[in-house]
Amino acid sequence: MASASRGNATVLSSSRTSILVDAGLSCRETMKRMKAAGEDPHKLTAIVISHEHNDHVSGLEVLARKLGIPVYISESTYQWWRRFNRDSEGRQPALERREHFQPGKNFSVGDITVTPFTIPHDAADPCGFTFQAEGIKIAVVTDLGYMPPNVRQNLRGCDGIMIESNHDLEMLRNGPYPWMVKQRVMSRVGHLSNAALAEFFETDYDGGAAFLVLAHLSEENNHPELARETAHKALGGKMNLFQSAAVTLAYQDKPLHPLCLG
Ligand SMILES: [Zn+2]
Ligand SMILES: [Zn+2]
Repeated sequence: MASASRGNATVLSSSRTSILVDAGLSCRETMKRMKAAGEDPHKLTAIVISHEHNDHVSGLEVLARKLGIPVYISESTYQWWRRFNRDSEGRQPALERREHFQPGKNFSVGDITVTPFTIPHDAADPCGFTFQAEGIKIAVVTDLGYMPPNVRQNLRGCDGIMIESNHDLEMLRNGPYPWMVKQRVMSRVGHLSNAALAEFFETDYDGGAAFLVLAHLSEENNHPELARETAHKALGGKMNLFQSAAVTLAYQDKPLHPLCLG
């Protein structure tokens, strides 16, 4: 729905269940964009949180309260989120209805089986996810410094993949960020570059997804066309195994049109 370094929120639905992955937009903006995409926010079954960075949780407390739905969040992500946030009266935020998951252990939300898995990123307990229902498997993985074997493993057999393509290395090196920030982004607990994603597409990707969404693009250190071109080139012949996979980009300022499978 939206993804970039300023705010991430993605809706995944089976015919009976709808999950919001991350709540990095305000409650009002999330509702507005869901309606624009033809989704009823009041039909959301649950919110699932990847990690406590602000661009993934800034709308969380208000949205969870307003919709009265459970939030699936790891215990340490929840503690760190509370520790560094205060409401206007100086109180720590809280979630009334929450379920703590552990990376590596599946859980169910309605008819969707969610598999959280650890990703390398500088947060308390950062996770990527796969979602399985009705014979379809979809992965959502943003905010990772590199592609370790467990992430490559979880991306096998996916029908749809939303994955980070954060920056172009040259643009980042020559860009406006202070050196410390550049080092953080480039580190093994920072963000995935177009080139690192291309390496995955060339080596380990099984070519099975009907759509690929390039997400969490940096507004300063990437161009959508550059990210798309790098991915296309790396995918090469893998795009037409059974059907031609669509490579889509998730933008910050407008909702991504709904992608349907099955
Ligand atoms: Zn992050
Ligand atoms: Zn992020």
